[in-house]
Amino acid sequence: MITKQKGTYDVVGMDAKKRKYVCDVIDAICEKYNYTYIETPIFESSELFHRSVGESSDIVTKETYDFVDRGERNITLRPEGTAGVVRSFIENKMYGNLSEPVKVYYNGPMFRYERPQSGRNRQFTQFGIEVIGTDDVMSDAEVISLAYNTYKLLGIDVKVQLNSLGDNESRDNYRKALMEYFKPNIDSLCEDCKVRLEKNPLRILDCKVDANSDILKNAPKTIDYLNEDSLNRFNKLQEYLDLMEIDYEVNTNLVRGLDYYNHTVFEIVADIPDFGSQSVLGGGGRYNGLIEQLDGPSTPAIGFAMGLDRTILAMESLDVKFKVRENIDIFIMYGNLDEKETACYLIQDLRMNGFVCETDYMGKSFKNQFKSADRFNSKFLVILNSDDIKNYKVKVKDNETKEEELVSINDLVDYLDMKL
Ligand code: AMP
Repeated sequence: MITKQKGTYDVVGMDAKKRKYVCDVIDAICEKYNYTYIETPIFESSELFHRSVGESSDIVTKETYDFVDRGERNITLRPEGTAGVVRSFIENKMYGNLSEPVKVYYNGPMFRYERPQSGRNRQFTQFGIEVIGTDDVMSDAEVISLAYNTYKLLGIDVKVQLNSLGDNESRDNYRKALMEYFKPNIDSLCEDCKVRLEKNPLRILDCKVDANSDILKNAPKTIDYLNEDSLNRFNKLQEYLDLMEIDYEVNTNLVRGLDYYNHTVFEIVADIPDFGSQSVLGGGGRYNGLIEQLDGPSTPAIGFAMGLDRTILAMESLDVKFKVRENIDIFIMYGNLDEKETACYLIQDLRMNGFVCETDYMGKSFKNQFKSADRFNSKFLVILNSDDIKNYKVKVKDNETKEEELVSINDLVDYLDMKL
């Protein structure tokens, strides 16, 4: 038997319904915030991720799915969504007429070669948003608010962990301070951190291995290295978040895993006992330098991404109700082939008039069709009988009150509309 690959999963049955519900909530909230759906390819040139996510990030050094295709191109399955969106922004010259920022959202599979465990897979789904073309602090607040409110609508209480890396000058000063601080202590850090010290010392603060060491806890704080402009910006952001009544706390150790962030960085954390590192449901930040880094015109931008799988696990562990459809409207029952033809015509008509309908495809007896209708939790039954059909009528039964009525086929849609 051929089985699925390690770190991948099928989404079937109730899991699929739950996922669909979460996606519907996402679509609805993005609509409210006036974000447009975007799709970019699942594979891109490897160079895109090397130049955006960063050569020193764990994602690029250890986690990408890379291959050479039949045309000798170096290809990578996308490990995250921002790089593809930015590539598309540049390639489609969306910067041409930026009278408004470009506001887009995506929802699709990402690939990272990680050690699979609960809430961590090799193929997983991320929902993300990007706002490209404005440096306005209120757009940082909007992105955080969309992320925060998505969880609220899904019924998960979350807190926003917030930090600022500042502008380039602040970030450089902080980087130098970290290098000086970590150099004498480097022997007590893990092998990866030794490499990070030279390439990107900020990433040491993100290390999963050394996370609880005192050296990390006592490291210099970003906030002490923000220049005046950056600090003002950070304070303004907090004012906006207060106005929007968003539950956040400043965490000066938060730097985020990717190399391209500046100013605002944030993570969305759920308060779930025993959920460990999985409680980080999503995160994002500002990446003003990335578009230029990918040969586009200098354009400020900010984004956010959350894992669908982990969000659904969080909802399940909090016993949150998934609003999935539990009924159908109508089950059409028939006994012989002539009645089946009427069923074939009626089901088409009713579905095109907006009703959720089902019928029998297994040649079941009436008794077993009643059982099917109950399994589907059908609100109404349309019971076909040759004599009624000759008079252009059908029997409609309310499956709850058990009341029956003979209804003209011509009036059926109006009748069911009224009843449902
Ligand atoms: P990142 O792009 O690493 O900031 O991740 C953003 C969110 O995507 C995380 O908070 C998770 O919810 C989700 N995520 C990242 N990596 C994985 C993975 N390997 N499996 C499942 N979800 C993931």
